[in-house]
Amino acid sequence: MNSFSFYNPVKLIFGKGQLSTLSKELAPFGKKVLVVYGGGSIKKSGLYDKVMAELAEGGFEIFELAGVEPNPRLSTAKKGIEICKENDVDAVLAVGGGSVIDCSKLIIAGAKYDGDPWDFVTRKAQPQDALPLGTVLTLAATGSEMNAGSVITNEETEEKYGWGSPLSFPKFSILDPEHTFTVPANQTVYGIVDMMSHMFEQYYNNGTNTPVQDEMIEGVLRAVIETAPKLMEDLTNYEHRETILFAGTLGLNNFLQMGYNGDWASHNIEHAVSAIYDIPHAGGLAIIFPEWMRHNVKVNPARFARMATKVFGVNPEGKSDEEVAHEGIDRLVEFWTSIGAPQKLSDYEIGDDRIEDMVDKTLVYGPFGNFNKLHAEDVRSILKAAL
Ligand code: NAP
Ligand code: FE
Repeated sequence: MNSFSFYNPVKLIFGKGQLSTLSKELAPFGKKVLVVYGGGSIKKSGLYDKVMAELAEGGFEIFELAGVEPNPRLSTAKKGIEICKENDVDAVLAVGGGSVIDCSKLIIAGAKYDGDPWDFVTRKAQPQDALPLGTVLTLAATGSEMNAGSVITNEETEEKYGWGSPLSFPKFSILDPEHTFTVPANQTVYGIVDMMSHMFEQYYNNGTNTPVQDEMIEGVLRAVIETAPKLMEDLTNYEHRETILFAGTLGLNNFLQMGYNGDWASHNIEHAVSAIYDIPHAGGLAIIFPEWMRHNVKVNPARFARMATKVFGVNPEGKSDEEVAHEGIDRLVEFWTSIGAPQKLSDYEIGDDRIEDMVDKTLVYGPFGNFNKLHAEDVRSILKAAL
C-alpha cells in the first residue's frame, strides 16, 4: 500500500423517514438557507413540499435556486453565488442528484470568494473558506453526497472538469431509498453504470498489496450486479433501491480507495466527451470504460483476469489471463447493455469530427492515468474504438 491519510467528515444519515432530521441538522449553521435543486423532479415527486415543510417548521428563511442542469453549468453556480452574497445566506441545502450537489459545492466556495469561481475548477485558486452544505440525495450514482468532488461544465468554453477541496465536503447528507423511487429507468441505469465505473477506476490503481481493498470492491460490485436486474424489474422495491443507494455512496466516499490512487482516465475521457456533446455522464462511461479496459489489458492481464473471474464469473480453466480478461470485459458490456446502457458513441450521434478536441481536453493537464498513463495516441485510439 502507499502511505495515506484518510479524512471524511460527512455525517451520513441513511434510511426511511430520515428527512425528519433535516431541521435539527441544519440548525447549527444559521437561519438563512439557499435550497438548490434541479429541473423539477422534486416538485413532481412531492419531495420539494416535504423539504419546505421541514424548513418552515425549523423557522428557516428560505432562498431558492432552481434549474440546475444535469452536467451542472458554471453560469448556474454563479447565480447561486449571487443569491448567497446578496442575502448573506448562512448555509446551502442541495436537494437532488450529483449535479445539484456538485453545483452546490461550487456555490458554497464561490460565496466566500471575490474572484471567478471557475478559478477553483481550473486550480488557479484554492478555496480558503466556504458556507456549510447539507444534502438530500435523490439519485444513487455519483457518491458526491459523501465526497468533496464536484464536476462543473463551462458551457462557453466547452470544458468540464472535476475539482474539490477539504472545504467542499457536505456537513451531512440525508439518504432515504424512497427518495429514489421516482428515478426513471434510464437514470437508474446511468447511476448503476457510474457507481460501477467508480469502483473500476479504483480497482485499476497504482497500489501494491491491496487484498483487503480488492475484496471490498469485488464484493460491492457483485452486490450491484446481482441487484441491478431485479431493481430494473421493480423500480419501487425498497430493498433494491436501498442496496443500490448504499453501493453508490460506498463507491466513491474514498473508503475503497485507501492506500493507492485509482486510475480515473476513463472519467477524464468521458468529461471531455460530455463537455462537447452534453451527454449523460454515465452514458459516456458505459461506452468509454470497456474500451479503456481493452486498451489496457496488456498492462496487467492478471489483474483483469481476476476481475473477470471474481466479479463476472468467467471460468479461467485452460485459458490465458488475456483470454479470461477479454471474456470478462465482454460480459461487462453484455451486462450493461442488458439493463439498457448505450454501447457506442454513435448511439448519441457522435462521430469522429471532434476527436482531436476530445483528446486535447482529456489531456489538458498532461498524460493521465494512475494505472497506466495515457498519451494522446492512447486516448485517440480508445475514442476511435468507441465510435
Ligand atoms: P443528475 O445529473 O443529478 O440527474 C440526472 C437526472 O435525473 C436529472 O434530469 C434529474 O431531474 C433526474 N432525477 C434526479 N433525482 C430524481 C428522482 N428522485 N426522481 C426523478 N428524477 C430524478 O445525475 P447524477 O448521475 O447524480 O449526476 C451526474 C453529474 O455528476 C455529472 O455532471 C457527473 O459528471 C457528475 N459526477 C460527480 C461525481 C462526484 O464525485 N462529485 C462523480 C461522478 C459524476 P431534475 O433535474 O428535475 O431533478
Ligand atoms: Fe462518475
